[in-house]
Amino acid sequence: MKKKDGIIKKILPYGNITVNPATMVLHYAQETFEGLKAYKAADGKVYLFRPDMNAKRFINSNKRMCMPEISEDLFVDCVKELVKVEKDWIPTGEGESLYIRPFMFADESSLGVHVAKSYKFIIILSPVGAYYPEGVNPIKIYVEDEYVRAILGGTGFVKCGGDYAASLKGQERAEDLGYTQVLWLDGVHRKYVEEVGSMNVMFLIDDKIVTAPLEGTVLPGVTRDSILTILKDFGFEVVEKHLSIDELIKAGKEGRLKETFGTGTAAVISPIGELYYKGEEVIINDFKTGALTQKLYDTLTDIQWGKSDDKYKWRLEVK
Ligand SMILES: *Cc1c(COP(=O)(O)O)cnc(C)c1O
Repeated sequence: MKKKDGIIKKILPYGNITVNPATMVLHYAQETFEGLKAYKAADGKVYLFRPDMNAKRFINSNKRMCMPEISEDLFVDCVKELVKVEKDWIPTGEGESLYIRPFMFADESSLGVHVAKSYKFIIILSPVGAYYPEGVNPIKIYVEDEYVRAILGGTGFVKCGGDYAASLKGQERAEDLGYTQVLWLDGVHRKYVEEVGSMNVMFLIDDKIVTAPLEGTVLPGVTRDSILTILKDFGFEVVEKHLSIDELIKAGKEGRLKETFGTGTAAVISPIGELYYKGEEVIINDFKTGALTQKLYDTLTDIQWGKSDDKYKWRLEVK
């Protein structure tokens, strides 16, 4: 796709792509991506879940990375067209879906550092199994107090490969120590809780839900937005604030941290059963999935798989 001179759209068989070794993305990382799923409902209908939110986020990501903005309609149309062609690949077992990965990268060949003049926007698909084949299970999280993921003015709100490249060092350490993912603290003070690996994170403290605000360092998750909407509907008070790790650990020790979970497209909801911070372990809800966490998981997945009314108008049928 050329930045200014029009757009060429093609659906091709899956295969390798050949790039020039001087292709700019390989050197300067101008790349953004999205992640969403297509679901096959019991009645055979195929649904996307809030693809307009992914389209909007992709526009915001591309703006920050000086990349061309694909209109919301073009983004959603491309996803729909491809899913239509490949709909027989959508698995129909419990919890199964078709993962959709749209991405864009700078494909001009040049070693000079500048905004690239040409880009490719590609969408690939893959059937995915149930994230929790044995039911929703809590994970263990390592609170990273050395490396940071994002700073204000940086690219924390952008879904880009560069952020992930910089996060691998923390992720590797967490895995070496037996933890599934990292809980990132803010990049300036290493004090305030931001998000978990590839998920936003929420805490049920006393009877309120606490999560980090969207001020530029946290990825604005579609699942985050959906869960906050459902929580408010359930009557919960949602507090978007800078929660310090010390306050969180204290709440955990005093038994006021009732439930903790991550939210993201892949797992939908991931209960967190343990936090490890500076040599201390805090176990949450006896390392069991909390009742609210389970209820949120059931409510959202029922909407996604077409098992309940679409009261928020979040499903888009592909036909
Ligand atoms: C994609 C992503 C999320 C979750 O976003 P969803 O739209 O809910 O899938 C959270 N954090 C990061 C860093 C992400 O890349």
